Amino acid sequence: MAKEKLSPGMQQYLDIKANYPDAFLLFRMGDFYELFYEDAVKAAQILEISLTSRNKNAENPIPMAGVPYHSAQQYIDSLIEAGYKVAVAEQMEDPKQAVGVVKREVVQVITPGTVVDSSKPASENNFLVALDVLERTYGLAYMDLVTGEFRVTSLTSFAQACGEIKNLRARELVLGYDLEEEEEQVLSKQMNLLLSPQAEILDDVHLLDSDLSHLEHQVAGKLLAYVHRTQLRQLQHLKKVQSYQIRDFLKMDYATKSSLDLTENARTGKKHGSLYWLMDETKTAMGTRLLRSWIQQPLIDLEQIKQRQDIVELFLANFFERNDLAESLKGVYDLERLASRVSFGKTNPKDLLQLARTLGNVPQIRGILESLDQPALASLISELDPISELADLIDGAISPDAPLLITEGNIIKTGFNQTLDKYRLILREGTSWIAELEAKERENSAISNLKIDYNKKDGYYFHVTNSQLAHVPSHFFRKATLKNSERFGTEELAKIEGEILEARERSANLEYEIFMDIRSEVANYIQRLQNLAQALARVDVLQAFALVAEKEHLVRPTFTKKSLILIEKGRHPVVEKVLGAQSYIPNSISLAEDSHIQLITGPNMSGKSTYMRQLAMIVILAQMGSYVPAEAVQIPIFDAIFTRIGAADDLVSGQSTFMVEMMEANRALAEASSNSLILFDELGRGTATYDGMALAQAIIEYIHHHIGAKTLFATHYHELTDLEETLPQLENVHVATLEKDGQVTFLHKIESGPADKSYGIHVAKIAGLPEDLLVRADKILTELENREQTLSKEKTVEGQQLSLFEEKSNPVLEDLAALDLNNMTPLEAMTALADLKKKL
Ligand code: ATP
Repeated sequence: MAKEKLSPGMQQYLDIKANYPDAFLLFRMGDFYELFYEDAVKAAQILEISLTSRNKNAENPIPMAGVPYHSAQQYIDSLIEAGYKVAVAEQMEDPKQAVGVVKREVVQVITPGTVVDSSKPASENNFLVALDVLERTYGLAYMDLVTGEFRVTSLTSFAQACGEIKNLRARELVLGYDLEEEEEQVLSKQMNLLLSPQAEILDDVHLLDSDLSHLEHQVAGKLLAYVHRTQLRQLQHLKKVQSYQIRDFLKMDYATKSSLDLTENARTGKKHGSLYWLMDETKTAMGTRLLRSWIQQPLIDLEQIKQRQDIVELFLANFFERNDLAESLKGVYDLERLASRVSFGKTNPKDLLQLARTLGNVPQIRGILESLDQPALASLISELDPISELADLIDGAISPDAPLLITEGNIIKTGFNQTLDKYRLILREGTSWIAELEAKERENSAISNLKIDYNKKDGYYFHVTNSQLAHVPSHFFRKATLKNSERFGTEELAKIEGEILEARERSANLEYEIFMDIRSEVANYIQRLQNLAQALARVDVLQAFALVAEKEHLVRPTFTKKSLILIEKGRHPVVEKVLGAQSYIPNSISLAEDSHIQLITGPNMSGKSTYMRQLAMIVILAQMGSYVPAEAVQIPIFDAIFTRIGAADDLVSGQSTFMVEMMEANRALAEASSNSLILFDELGRGTATYDGMALAQAIIEYIHHHIGAKTLFATHYHELTDLEETLPQLENVHVATLEKDGQVTFLHKIESGPADKSYGIHVAKIAGLPEDLLVRADKILTELENREQTLSKEKTVEGQQLSLFEEKSNPVLEDLAALDLNNMTPLEAMTALADLKKKL
């Protein structure tokens, strides 16, 4: 393309585009946003809009596609949803007054991690994550641009960083350093993250804490710089960065959270069937978001856990108050989102009304809590700041039926501003002046159907039908001619019209100004609104805990400093909810101080996994401060949960089932402490029987000797049950089955001792495999079992022989043992070795 041929407008486009090579540039031209060149071709495809060209007849027409500005949002959403960035360039001056090319500037870059007006439900956070590295330590910062939440932490490995990024469900990663090829592969291909490099740091003293480590300061500063670069405006709602440590919470890696179905069902990817689904009796979007983060980060501090439990207990004991509370919470809007809209300058009158309505509910919520009169609620009550002056301001100013648009008037209440009231009086009087004028002229002219009408084009006019035209008075002047009528004006009408129009325009402008003033006044309250939002979210989650405790018959767990687990009639709450309470068989779990490992055997499908997960659910719920599904629970506070449950191939990351299995096992062995909980389901299943069994045994022994973590280990290898004899801290349990007349019933009941057989073929029968095949399988099984018995007999005989041989003394060995190596020269050693060889 020859540059000299370009129009100044296109040159301006190219200049702007050069700064945003990685984004679709939406270039405002009148009522459209236009895209050009590659952007146009790609966008036309993605958005299914038509592709045209700018100067069709030229040698090289420029590809072009456009979207109307009033419906641009949906197109922007689609591009973001597809993982792209969008830069929006607006006209910065009135085209009518512009000299030469209208001035245009990018006013915002929207990216998957910074989108605030998306179709994503408000109950979910959209986290933008930044990653940086310094001497093998990874700094990770994240922010939700809607809620203003801003946190930073340090992590010890890339794998840990990936886990945290997955936990946050980030879509975009701001990168502070150059990735190694392997890292790039993981982040961009496997995790499908949009990577946005960012080298500069924004050193904002208000948002960055001076106590941060150098790396944390750096990564948080880069995140801020990126946000600034894309948002291009002052954001008052961003919170000061908060530093956190993974070890401050119950540690669970992403695989664990996912296999326990904490926030979504791992199989379906949906909320339904997850712990989050079970617990979500929250009434507000803020509460839902907080619940999610509490599930992801259960506590490890006893005092904090107890504070939550105490409030749940109070709410449970006070049914009516709790009900009122839930009702009041229903009238609470998403204050965090509203606060961010104020900060983004996007608030409309409806937003302010919602804000005021929410504030209006706070005294009631506070009152309910105060009426319970309990010290446990004192701090929560003190945080429920009704910000009444703000509520009063909005209530006094904004009319309850204000429109969505801020440019069309009718926003501000009468009585709020005298000048505005004066304009409105003129408008009202103007209407009666018009009515009077209409009556006067009708009488004078004797046109019986003479009336005054209004439209945008002609303004006010006398409407005269063709049949009456002869009676039109001479002081009328013609404004417009229609098919059956004509429109006339008079000097007097024009004067009234002038006054009315002026009053209308002035009042609309004034309303706009007043609204803007109120909006900037509201901006001063952003921080208080955010604090209030957090307090309301806590109240909401805690009332949800109480409601779920009541509905699902949960009990308050107690925590012990001893390393023991005592769960009476525990249940897996999600499986129970799905199956129905009457079908669920509760199981007690008891692991004494000197008993660390339970080896669980039992048929497939009998409930081994459910039993193990049940323990994890109870621990997580307990440490979240919730009640738990059991009749009584006593547990220690765990520092971490490690799992290897389910055999999900991680094909996307190119790892086989067995590799994933071993990596997860390794993580547990490397990181677990005696205060951790380990759940291993069918470990070793992914490889050949003997390899698997050998590894499983070695792993159990390792945990037993070196870690001492409470461990549930479910296995198909019956051989492992013999370990009970050699490992004092291991006990066998099994899932009971009832076999009667060839029919097997799984009782889902855990009993002590090992299982007797595996019933795999029985499960295949339930699954409906062909009868012939089953008969054949039975036969093979019998053959295999017989062969194994013969083999094991042979082995025993061999073993006896070996030990007989071993018991006989060997003179070569005795001589070898007697050598004093420390006092021998190398030559003497060589000679001794030669002697020994000769003797042998
Ligand atoms: P596999 O060895 O094949 O992995 P498993 O022994 O781990 O099987 P689970 O997956 O725990 O078996 O349970 C299988 C099914 O049995 C569950 O989906 C559930 O429907 C039912 N079940 C498990 N435990 C119970 C229980 N305590 N009460 C009622 N039903 C249960």
